[in-house]
Amino acid sequence: MANTIISVKDLVKKYGDFEAVKGISFEVREGEIFGLLGPNGAGKSTTLEIIETLRQKTSGKVIVNGIDLDQHPESIKKIIGVQLQTSGYYPGLRLSELIELFGGLYNQPVEPLKLLDLVNLRDKARSKFKELSGGQKQRFSIATTLINKPNIIFLDEPTTGLDPQARRNLWDLVTDIRSKGTTVIITTHYMDEAEVLCDRVAIIDSGKIIAMDTPDALIDQLVSTGFERPKEVKQANLEDVFIHMTGHALREEA
Ligand code: ADP
Ligand code: MG
Repeated sequence: MANTIISVKDLVKKYGDFEAVKGISFEVREGEIFGLLGPNGAGKSTTLEIIETLRQKTSGKVIVNGIDLDQHPESIKKIIGVQLQTSGYYPGLRLSELIELFGGLYNQPVEPLKLLDLVNLRDKARSKFKELSGGQKQRFSIATTLINKPNIIFLDEPTTGLDPQARRNLWDLVTDIRSKGTTVIITTHYMDEAEVLCDRVAIIDSGKIIAMDTPDALIDQLVSTGFERPKEVKQANLEDVFIHMTGHALREEA
C-alpha cells in the first residue's frame, strides 16, 4: 500500500462558539485522488484550508509529507498547490502574464506555454482571464496549482457550475495530473463525479466523518444492508441523451 502523504488527527475548528469541524481524522495516500464529500456547510473547505495552512485550526494534528503543520507551515506551502477561487485573478491580465506573476510569487521559474499546454489552453495564452469560458477558467486555475511543481494539489469544487462536457474534460485533466504522480484532494457535490474520479472518499456531515472507503466498497456496504434502488427501467438517462446529441467536444466560445 502507498505511503501516507497527509495525516489528519482529531482536527477541530471552532468559529467562536460554533464547532464547524468536530474532531475528524483521516489519511490520504501518496498518488491517490481523495474526495471529501458532504453537503454545504459540512466543513470541507475549512478542513482543506487548514491543511493548506490558510486557516488556523483550533486543535488536532496535521502532518503533510512528514512535515508537522504546527512546526513548519512554510515547508508545507512549498510542496502543495492550492486552487484560488477564480475571482482571485486579475481579470485584465493575459494568461501568460498571470502565470509569470504567480511564478514570481512562488519564486519559481515558469514556462507559461508549457503549463498552458498541460491544461489545453496554449492557444489562449494571449487571452485575458475575463475572456475565458467557465470551464477554461477552471482549467486555468488548475494550471496555477501546478506552478510550484507540488506533490499534492487541493481542488475545492472545481466542477461546480460547469456544463457536462467541461466537467468530463476536467475529470480527464485531474486523472492526467494524478498519473504523473501528484496526489489530489478534491471536494465535489457530484456523486457521479466522485464515483468515477476518486480512489477513496470521506463523507463529512456537520463536521464529522461518517464514512470513508472506496466508492465501490461504500456502495457494496449499502447494498449488503438490503438496500435496493428503484429499478432503472431505461438503459440511459437524460445526461446520456445530452452528451450523445451535443458530443463530448468542449464548447468554449463563451
Ligand atoms: P463546506 O465547504 O463543507 O460547505 P465550510 O467549511 O465552508 O463548509 O463551512 C463549515 C461551517 O463553518 C459552515 O456552517 C459555515 O457557515 C461555517 N464557517 C465557515 N467559515 C466561517 C467563518 N470564517 N466564520 C464563521 N463561520 C464560518
Ligand atoms: Mg466549501
